[in-house]
Amino acid sequence: MQVRADFAAAVGNTPLIRMNRLSEETGCEILGKAEFMNPGGSVKDRAALWIIREHEKSGALACGGTVVEGTAGNTGIGLAHICNARGYPCVIYMPDNQSQAKVDILRTLGAEVRVVPTVPYRDEMNYQKQAGRFAAQLSNGVWANQFDNTANRLAHYQSTGPEIWQQTDGKVDAFVSAVGTGGTLAGVSRFLKERNANVYTALADCMGSALYSYVTTGEAVMSEGPSITEGIGNSRVTDNLDGAPVDSAVQVTDQQMVTIVYRLLREEGWFFGSSTGINLHAAVQVARELGPGHTVVTMLCDGGAKYQSRLFNRAWLAERGLSPD
Ligand code: PMP
Repeated sequence: MQVRADFAAAVGNTPLIRMNRLSEETGCEILGKAEFMNPGGSVKDRAALWIIREHEKSGALACGGTVVEGTAGNTGIGLAHICNARGYPCVIYMPDNQSQAKVDILRTLGAEVRVVPTVPYRDEMNYQKQAGRFAAQLSNGVWANQFDNTANRLAHYQSTGPEIWQQTDGKVDAFVSAVGTGGTLAGVSRFLKERNANVYTALADCMGSALYSYVTTGEAVMSEGPSITEGIGNSRVTDNLDGAPVDSAVQVTDQQMVTIVYRLLREEGWFFGSSTGINLHAAVQVARELGPGHTVVTMLCDGGAKYQSRLFNRAWLAERGLSPD
């Protein structure tokens, strides 16, 4: 019998799925890692699990200790699931510009959600800084700190990277990934390049982020935004992204993302979130640059259900000049 023992054991080992139309159009194999099949529903289950495990190993998190994070999205969901499974209270700080649906799901999963005013990162009242300060004064508690805690990229170095290598029999030519914290891109890129230095790695960036500029010029300068994507883009180079072996970057507009997400829904039945659209558009671009016959792998970060009121709401898109057709 092939039985996974518990929630943690159900994280990872996701299938690698061929994107058929995109592969046929480019003459390449465009393959997506099905992270939406993780038990918490996204790629962030891996980071959440590794962060908690590393804190347990170091002794910073003991029985009944509290896990604290500043997050608006998938990391909080992953942490809340794992905290329940392991008996840790979970406290999530979130800015007040997020949809009520996100607050509701975290509360349903049992997390204590503290909604705080939306202020920039440099402000001491920023939600991430408040999370760090609250965790620091707990006697048995940790700050997950997904942006700068490198247990995040370690998750992808130890799990996602080896899975991709094995699932492609080492025949991967390129890896493409959007960046929020940078854990995915940094961890997978490092692993694959250690196996084969010729694997080409590319950062897929949304508008209103500084990372395209960082990779192409060495300086993190924000591009014109904003973007309707969620969970990706960054104004700074996190500790997780720092030093990642990245060869190039591709900038993807919201319209390009919307077009590919709706195409795959209509043509092949896939229901993906916005960061997956950024990844797939960039993967096609990289495939075109490399030419036919190459294998390009990217991440299918999460499913579309969480994006019902925005990405999958035609009126909301139209107000922003975006069209699914
Ligand atoms: N896609 C989604 C839906 C996410 O929630 C995130 C993480 N915020 C990412 C992509 C980016 O992953 P990473 O943090 O590893 O860069």
